[in-house]
Amino acid sequence: MSDSNPVTILWFRHDLRLDDNPALAAAAARGSIVPVFIWAPEEEAPWEPGAASRWWLHGSLEKLSAALAQAGAALVIRRGPSLEALRSLAAECAATHIAWNRRYEPAVVKRDTAITKALTADGLDVESFNGGLLYEPVHIATKEGKPYQVFTPFWRSLLARSEPDEPVRAPRTLLAGKPVKKTQKTVAAAELDLVPTIPWDTTMQKTWSPGEAAATKRLETFLAKRLAGYGTERDRPDHDGTSTLSAHLHFGEISPRRVWHAVRAAAGGRPAAQITGDAEVFLRELGWREFAHHLLYHFPHTTDAPLRSDYARFPWVSDPVGLRAWQRGRTGYPMVDAGMRQLWGSGWMHNRVRMIVSSFLVKDLRVSWLEGARWFWDTLVDADLAANTLGWQWAAGCGADAAPYFRIFNPTTQGEKFDPDGGYIRTWVPELTRLSTADIHAPAEADERSLEKAGVTLGHDYPEPIVDHGEARKLALEALKKVSQSS
Ligand code: FAD
Repeated sequence: MSDSNPVTILWFRHDLRLDDNPALAAAAARGSIVPVFIWAPEEEAPWEPGAASRWWLHGSLEKLSAALAQAGAALVIRRGPSLEALRSLAAECAATHIAWNRRYEPAVVKRDTAITKALTADGLDVESFNGGLLYEPVHIATKEGKPYQVFTPFWRSLLARSEPDEPVRAPRTLLAGKPVKKTQKTVAAAELDLVPTIPWDTTMQKTWSPGEAAATKRLETFLAKRLAGYGTERDRPDHDGTSTLSAHLHFGEISPRRVWHAVRAAAGGRPAAQITGDAEVFLRELGWREFAHHLLYHFPHTTDAPLRSDYARFPWVSDPVGLRAWQRGRTGYPMVDAGMRQLWGSGWMHNRVRMIVSSFLVKDLRVSWLEGARWFWDTLVDADLAANTLGWQWAAGCGADAAPYFRIFNPTTQGEKFDPDGGYIRTWVPELTRLSTADIHAPAEADERSLEKAGVTLGHDYPEPIVDHGEARKLALEALKKVSQSS
């Protein structure tokens, strides 16, 4: 290729879309592109994509590949190591530039820094962009220039900035660089073995449709049907009250800027800082997503260690039996079990229920938040290192702006409050369907006749509670005392 039509390798990562993709827009404006996805999970260790994420990725790659083909460019898929794959592809298609959108996970930051250095030394022009966040972690800081550790001042500081850039449209057509020879040069998405051989993904297949088009549709549905009322409905796991955009956002099938500006427009187009009501509540959730990345970037050790270092001394309990019961949704606490079964079945769990089940693991069972984070990591389609770390450290009381450990959710009353008719439990714990609404949150307290009438034999059809919440609460508070005594 001549210099008048420079070829850019467009390295797709967590930006599996054509719309509002700054790296793609810049490369397409310059000349030809050769799009590539590289499968190198070991480079993200110890947080290599889990099983549910792999399932999603498979679908997303297929959709991206089709969308690129329609725009005139063929997606090349290769296996890692990433540096070697990029180097050989650059040589094969005489590329002069390599472009990507940045990621913020510690292992990826380290790898990308090394790759930038090596490719620049090779004489390639390397450029990276912000395609995944409203503002990057270094752009928001306290007056002293330090990272925030509390959400509210972070959010105020974010709102005080000028609005995030307007999204850029997908290039209408793409000029493809010199074609890469077919032989052995690209693998099909199916060859990456991302989908399970055991069919545990049946419900996932019915629930989700990965890819950019589905992401756009979900946003449209949310704006049309759920934004009004989001402020209250978002706390009802028995209703479809949230956007369910999390996996699409994680894989970059839709950009946060696109979502932000669409919600602003739906709320009358005012600056975000002046928006109130449901739209404000929703924008604030995108703010939590930003905050999570801010923390991950500035405190990279928190993926495996508590931000509040005194919690490193917390006497966590090793309880493989309890952990297994929690994972499988067999704790005897219906709200916890419904959540864990929703996760296992669909690869997703409602936010309110994530708070309840995480509290149960770290407080009622006193099992380390890391065990929970790892399970979520493997089973969530939206598993995201920033959000998952923040969520788990919040639950364990050991992170930024965390719920104090001594505030312990009662899983029964939480169920009564947020699933008042028991509809969520009936969906995910079908053996309790025939229990009355009064009994469904605490079958162990129901009288013999009611249980018999509902066809439930505790210990047979549904487990007895694996811990007594009152007792567990006392033990958790005792354990907490040990942390403060030793500090
Ligand atoms: P909506 O209510 O529609 O919110 C819109 C978007 O805002 C979400 O898609 C998400 O990108 C972002 N968001 C909302 N809440 C949060 C939050 N608390 N932290 C960061 N971003 C948020 N979210 C993930 O995306 N990946 C995870 O791995 C993850 N793990 C979690 C673990 C725990 C223990 C807890 C308590 C929460 C976790 N969350 C995680 C946050 C939250 O539960 C999900 O983002 C939300 O349930 C996704 O559903 P939604 O898209 O319908 O959210």
